[in-house]
Amino acid sequence: MKRQTEAVHTPFQSRDAYNAISMPVYHTVAYEFDNAADMVDAFCGVSSAPDYSRVMNPTVTFFENKVKQLTGATRVVALNSGMAAISNTLLALAGAGRKIVTSRHLFGNTYSLITTTLARYGVEVALCDLTDVEAVERAVTDNCCCIFLEIITNPQMEVADLQALASVAHSHNIPLVADTTLIPFTQFSARSLGVDIEVVSSTKYISGGATTIGGLVIDYGAFPEFSKAISGEMLFNLGAYMTPHVAYMQTLGLETLDARYRVQSSNAATLAQRLTELSSIRRVNYLGLESNPFYSLARRQFGESSGAMITIELQDRESCFNFINKLKLIRRATNLFDNKSLAIHPASTIFGNFTPQQRASMDISETTVRLSVGLEDVDDIFEDIRQALE
Ligand SMILES: *Cc1c(COP(=O)(O)O)cnc(C)c1O
Repeated sequence: MKRQTEAVHTPFQSRDAYNAISMPVYHTVAYEFDNAADMVDAFCGVSSAPDYSRVMNPTVTFFENKVKQLTGATRVVALNSGMAAISNTLLALAGAGRKIVTSRHLFGNTYSLITTTLARYGVEVALCDLTDVEAVERAVTDNCCCIFLEIITNPQMEVADLQALASVAHSHNIPLVADTTLIPFTQFSARSLGVDIEVVSSTKYISGGATTIGGLVIDYGAFPEFSKAISGEMLFNLGAYMTPHVAYMQTLGLETLDARYRVQSSNAATLAQRLTELSSIRRVNYLGLESNPFYSLARRQFGESSGAMITIELQDRESCFNFINKLKLIRRATNLFDNKSLAIHPASTIFGNFTPQQRASMDISETTVRLSVGLEDVDDIFEDIRQALE
């Protein structure tokens, strides 16, 4: 059977008392044991019986198992946000005097986590152009703990060559860590491109219509010290484990992900093409347009589809605000890959608390509007954009 089929039919870890067809939501803190010896086994990792829901819960384990089936990972840890997945991963890898090699093109909170929060604990950072492999090579010194990147940067939409970066990382015996939020792991195999650890904001594609906040650490087991630290140390000490209700919602989202993604990515491809015909849009940035500088690389790495995020360039900040204010169908909201189409002006919102100099260094432009394309009929989405530009 194909992975998608298996993932819809993930077996329960143990038989449910009532033969429930959906994994029940185990809203419990603790689990009772028959005897003291079983308790020892559970607490010391000899058995896989749950003991305490800060570190293990059957509903969350079921969700993690689904992700394992779809990715072939050796270990999946579900946490309570994408930022928790990123911070737990970097805290497991880094330490005072260790260096993270990454880019200025990062999700705003990830940028701030690395350059402000982790910096306070003595973690060093090299911000370089990850599309320039020689620059990365120069930045990777002996104290480096990982290369970290986003597979498609948001909102710049830059794509780095994963295999080239993996070979730099592996020649220094450090992991390549990729935030793969922007293309679901059902669409391409990050591992086969050399990625050692994936971090995902499951808030986005996976949650299934913007129901819940969540994050995933997907570990392919190449760095045993990391595997031990993420599930044996960070999970216990940082306490960011996913809650059972969220895991239940995200399990439902994961089962319909493939179906939803097909419609949303196809809507986005159609829409991007049609937007290029509107004269008030200076530029349409979408990886699926042949004119995009990363078109071939994105095809090679991610396959035929290019996701559901599009950015458009308008005249200035005022025209962006006017456009956003005139939208009737597309919602004015942050988030990506909701069932509903969304629009936002990243420079003044997600990156609003950065200085103009910082925004310039991160290539965050005042003239960019970001669109997340939903499940509506594409003709209606296009018509809304067309009327709002008038
Ligand atoms: C949204 C997002 C995050 C943060 O995820 P949360 O679930 O909001 O914590 C991280 N990286 C990328 C690329 C994102 O789009």
